[in-house]
Amino acid sequence: MGLLGCHVSISGGVQNAPLRATALGCETMQIFTRNARRWASKALEPEKIEDFKAGVKEQGLQEVMVHGSYLTNLASPDPRIHSLSVTAFEDELDRTEALGIPYFVIHPGSHRGTSRSEGLRLLTSSLQKSLEARPNYRSILLLETTAGGGKSMGGSFELLAEILDQTGKPDRIGVCFDTAHVFAAGYDIRTKAGFEETLEGFDHQIGLERLKAFHINDSKTKLGSHHDVHENIGQGHIGIEVFRFLVNDPRFKHHPMNLETPGGDEAFRRNLQLLYNLRQS
Ligand SMILES: [Zn+2]
Ligand SMILES: [Zn+2]
Repeated sequence: MGLLGCHVSISGGVQNAPLRATALGCETMQIFTRNARRWASKALEPEKIEDFKAGVKEQGLQEVMVHGSYLTNLASPDPRIHSLSVTAFEDELDRTEALGIPYFVIHPGSHRGTSRSEGLRLLTSSLQKSLEARPNYRSILLLETTAGGGKSMGGSFELLAEILDQTGKPDRIGVCFDTAHVFAAGYDIRTKAGFEETLEGFDHQIGLERLKAFHINDSKTKLGSHHDVHENIGQGHIGIEVFRFLVNDPRFKHHPMNLETPGGDEAFRRNLQLLYNLRQS
């Protein structure tokens, strides 16, 4: 039985998220730690950090996750974008650690038309440098599976495996499996057999022990579309079956599973209820 939750707003400050999460029915949650669509950001105030930590404890939230800024692209060949990305990424690494959050999820980015090997080089050397400068951090960085397509760096398990191998530091980097992205990337997870086959592929290429968290979303786009459009659970092209297997899978009992479905808090509440109803005990 995985831990269920959703992406929770930090409107008014991060310290407001824990109570908001349990009001939605979350056991875990995902948050941003800053505005995800701007490069600049104010520092987190120490008292808000303490309030946040106290809130997570009081509300009994487990295995909280941070999602990185949407602007960050550590594989970007543009020196200005790359440098801004490193600054934002390191700031978010620091925030995640300061907030005592175990997981920080980022997208592997896009090489923007240079080449896969140049993208790999930029991405892995940036990851290495930023992590090596923070040797004692406990938060684990997670690379998210993406919908793929030409310039994306995370659309196949094979490419993710290459990124992880080249970066090294296996104790500090894992993977966040987004069901909608994996499906749009071409992995057919609609049936139990397809889901198992996909996980076997993941295990073979990357290793299931590196899979630390899930984003649970249905997909508005078809299998292999390479388009990333999330849908409410059971209302998209994936359908409900895989979510039944996933929430009951003993291998992922303590894994955070956060929704990123459309429709705001009302939809999150409905989706969470539906997922709790799929639990078999
Ligand atoms: Zn994401
Ligand atoms: Zn996601």
